[in-house]
Amino acid sequence: MTQKTDNKKFFEKSLEDYRDQVWGCARCNWCQNQWGWNVKNAEYSEVCPAFHEYRFFPYSGMGKMHIARALIEGDFDGEDAPELAEFIYTCTTCGACEMNCQRMQDKEPLKINETLRAMLVKEGLGPLPEHKNLINSVKSYDNPWMQPRTQRDRWARKINIRDAKKEKCETLFFVGCTTALDPSMATVAQNTAKILLKAGVDLGMLGKDEICCGSPIARLGDRETFLALAKRNIERLNSLGVKEIVTSCPGCFRAIRQDYAEIPEAPEINFNVYHTVEYLDRLIKEGKLELKTEVPMKVAWHDPCHLGRHCGIYDAPRNILKAIPGIKLQEKERIKDQSWCCGGGGGARTAFLDFAQITAGKLIDEVKNTTDAEAIVTCCPFCEQNIGDVLSRTEDKLELIDLIDLVKKATNG
Ligand code: SF4
Ligand code: SF4
Repeated sequence: MTQKTDNKKFFEKSLEDYRDQVWGCARCNWCQNQWGWNVKNAEYSEVCPAFHEYRFFPYSGMGKMHIARALIEGDFDGEDAPELAEFIYTCTTCGACEMNCQRMQDKEPLKINETLRAMLVKEGLGPLPEHKNLINSVKSYDNPWMQPRTQRDRWARKINIRDAKKEKCETLFFVGCTTALDPSMATVAQNTAKILLKAGVDLGMLGKDEICCGSPIARLGDRETFLALAKRNIERLNSLGVKEIVTSCPGCFRAIRQDYAEIPEAPEINFNVYHTVEYLDRLIKEGKLELKTEVPMKVAWHDPCHLGRHCGIYDAPRNILKAIPGIKLQEKERIKDQSWCCGGGGGARTAFLDFAQITAGKLIDEVKNTTDAEAIVTCCPFCEQNIGDVLSRTEDKLELIDLIDLVKKATNG
């Protein structure tokens, strides 16, 4: 998604800065529907999970624009509308509304919804109680999962990876809270490190001293906490002297690559950041990573919103899948910038678990109904938690696999 070019950074903008945009909303509904030329089937013609589920306009991107307009003009006061926080937080921040609006109308409904969230937090009307536990955990433990800092490097106990604080290295593996601390994600962290080390990358990690990137906090609208975390991270990462950072979490990737640049008076950032899929795609093209072992399987790729729509990375994971001998990529109906969100982002899974899981269920149905895939492959810990929960309660044979685990198999590992 494109960034508007005025001279204010996103994290200092108020609703007033969007006055022209919210008055300019054409009520055209592109923010709820797939971009026309892609539609093949009425069942898969929509893109907004919140509007699809609740069928009431305040849940849509357009609805958020009109809530913002009413608040700017003083048509009602946030305190007079108890449903307001629910409308604003029942959103996965998938960005489909903004993607399609910008094609026709050049407005930013998702950024406006995130600014509405920031306004609610400032006025003490948000976030929701469930979100407060997550924010308090980040403040107390530097991660949203209430896990002690000592657990953060347990995935690496049998891996010979250097401590970037003690030894200089060129590339830092920024693991991310969920991949580092959710035991079901440990293999993703381990396989990422093993593959990068085998490809000769001069790799290090922060271990117990890695802290949350701030992505979940930014999406919830708690700007004060996010800005403090982001500045701590920038200073710490700069101090290591690394040339580049690679992360396996699309949320961390988006935060470090895009959100940190939108912080007012942020320190200069002295490194480049890559998602693992971009990095591996480059290593394969440069002949530094060979995928020789056959992995016979039909798979469907799920584009994580924070990697795809938010950062524009669609080809790298597909290039990797095509480079694995035996893999047959089967594209589902909605892909790339029209992909259906897994439902897990933006605090939706924390506060509205049913909505999040219904959304994941629709994604699973789409894969089953429009492909012959044996597995959904993706590369986001949040997508994997949410889709995995729903799949685990079904009798389906459909598997859920992180791309890095397929790459590991293909490297004879
Ligand atoms: S696509 Fe944009 S202009 Fe059209 S209704 Fe949605 S927010 Fe308004
Ligand atoms: S970000 Fe996604 S869930 Fe939220 S309003 Fe836009 S399309 Fe709907």
